[in-house]
Amino acid sequence: MDVLTMAWHAAGAPEVELPTREGICARCGAGGVLIAAAAVVSRSFTGYDGWSDPSQTGICRPCAWGYRHPPLRATAHLVTRATQLQALTPTEVGEHLELPLSPDRALIVPLHPGRKHLAPTAVWGRVTIEDAHLSWAAADVDRLAALRRVRWLGFGSRMLTAPAPPWAVLSRLPAQTYPELLADWAALAPWRERRPWLGLAVHVTVADTVAPPAPRPRSPLSNLRKVHR
Ligand SMILES: [Zn+2]
Repeated sequence: MDVLTMAWHAAGAPEVELPTREGICARCGAGGVLIAAAAVVSRSFTGYDGWSDPSQTGICRPCAWGYRHPPLRATAHLVTRATQLQALTPTEVGEHLELPLSPDRALIVPLHPGRKHLAPTAVWGRVTIEDAHLSWAAADVDRLAALRRVRWLGFGSRMLTAPAPPWAVLSRLPAQTYPELLADWAALAPWRERRPWLGLAVHVTVADTVAPPAPRPRSPLSNLRKVHR
């Protein structure tokens, strides 16, 4: 059973329109009762890539729901083969990504909520974001942990694409943080080449960025002067 059909069952098999015909679903190819595609997707709809036969005029009940259930476009969801569908906040998605993603799970994570239908294309064992299905292996778990530590030190999301930690933040950190920071920065190098993974990691760690520490006093002497003035 594909991810969307499992999600539809988990949601209680809701009906978005009454089926009016029988045949082969234009999107997923399943046979059965169908709803007119024109009643589900608008005339301006262009997302036919991945449809098994767009010349067919009907789509099945799970596929119809996949396009007509607004929360699927607005919020991240976990779907499991145990007939589970769960809405997730970005932080909760990050918690699921603290382990490799197993083949009996699928995550659907709209990085730009509302823009695209992601659920109909979701794949088991992958994180579906706009235009990509990302694997999530042990190395990605380690990189996400490195990215969190870097963000906790005050590096903002735009800085993470730089080949080295930007001086504006680095210069404010205690020197004893440098070895681990530089190792973490280097560990993120593969994601600087594979931006979809970096985009997902940034999305799920937004709450982790803390304000950079205040600048350290220039010298003990300048501090003393302030105190005695
Ligand atoms: Zn279908």
